[in-house]
Amino acid sequence: MRLRRLLIIGAAMLVISCEPKPQVWHTEFPAFGTRIEISIAGVPEPSARQASDRIKVLFEALHHRWQPWGDGELGRFNAQLMDTGSATGDAELLDTIRQAMAYTRLSGGRFNPAVAALVREWGFSQAAPISAPPDRTKLMELLAAMPRQQQIDWFPDRLVSPAGGWAIDLGGFAKGLAVDRAIKLLREAGIENAIVNTGGDLRATGRRNERAWRIGIRHPRREGVIAGIDIDGDESVFTSGDYERFFENEGVRYHHILDPETGYPAMGTVSLTVIAGNGALADASATALFVAGPGKWPELAQALGLELVMLVASDGRVEMTAAMAKRVMLENPGQLNVIIVDKP
Ligand code: AMP
Ligand code: MG
Repeated sequence: MRLRRLLIIGAAMLVISCEPKPQVWHTEFPAFGTRIEISIAGVPEPSARQASDRIKVLFEALHHRWQPWGDGELGRFNAQLMDTGSATGDAELLDTIRQAMAYTRLSGGRFNPAVAALVREWGFSQAAPISAPPDRTKLMELLAAMPRQQQIDWFPDRLVSPAGGWAIDLGGFAKGLAVDRAIKLLREAGIENAIVNTGGDLRATGRRNERAWRIGIRHPRREGVIAGIDIDGDESVFTSGDYERFFENEGVRYHHILDPETGYPAMGTVSLTVIAGNGALADASATALFVAGPGKWPELAQALGLELVMLVASDGRVEMTAAMAKRVMLENPGQLNVIIVDKP
């Protein structure tokens, strides 16, 4: 009897393992200075390929369009801003900048795309970074040139501010907008199950066949991941980290996320992860909360309506919301000093 039951179980397992595995289709290509990976489930390969090709064309166009310096749309816009403080561009670009700057207000100025000239001075706009902090007087000059929100007048194809010497950097927001557009494009093609991953920042929708999508959050100081997360539905996971672009000078790490209050890299945070519904909110918020820093981010997260946030501080502490603690599967939790922050 026992043997028969075992045989039946054995046969059932065989049937399961013989079933053809549903495929997940992958592709990757470079854009936005990183590797873009697209994973699509539940549709035939030709549909997946066609939709991915369209995303590739879109991302290449947006990348060129949103370069802060050079001959793209934003580059030309910024040249005018630097010169006079006013600039004309197409309505879509103006709309994007305005959308980005709405987060400046919402984040109490921590996320501020008007930092472009400062980012360039720090050497983070060019391929080869500098090796020592820029001249302080020059930084203060660039900081003083950034307009306050109330000083900017918006028109459908024009932005007017009192004086030049500043420009727009969409680097903290572009990937979020791009993944949102990619997911929209996939849906229009009838694709509901996909991940669009822009170098670790991603939006996932639907499922990986019968399972949720499982994704990893990069460990900020080691190879591998610090945590895994399952996504079943539609969510964006964005991480801002001090390891993406930086140089070290006299034992200090100077990285690419600037505090718009000081003109210097925001200190105290190593990485900050946000899970939110759409990419634009997740991307802008990750940058803003990174700047807010340890102990200070919970209040801003609440103001931004975010429940899922995790911060790794420079002293190794890991701060997260209770909701985030329920979602993340930490690698080596015993080695981490985790602090749950329930209320600001
Ligand atoms: P992220 O990795 O999304 O945090 O974006 C970082 C990039 O955004 C930098 O490389 C800069 O181009 C730009 N950036 C730096 N500091 C800020 C800031 N405080 N607000 C908005 N954008 C910023
Ligand atoms: Mg960002």
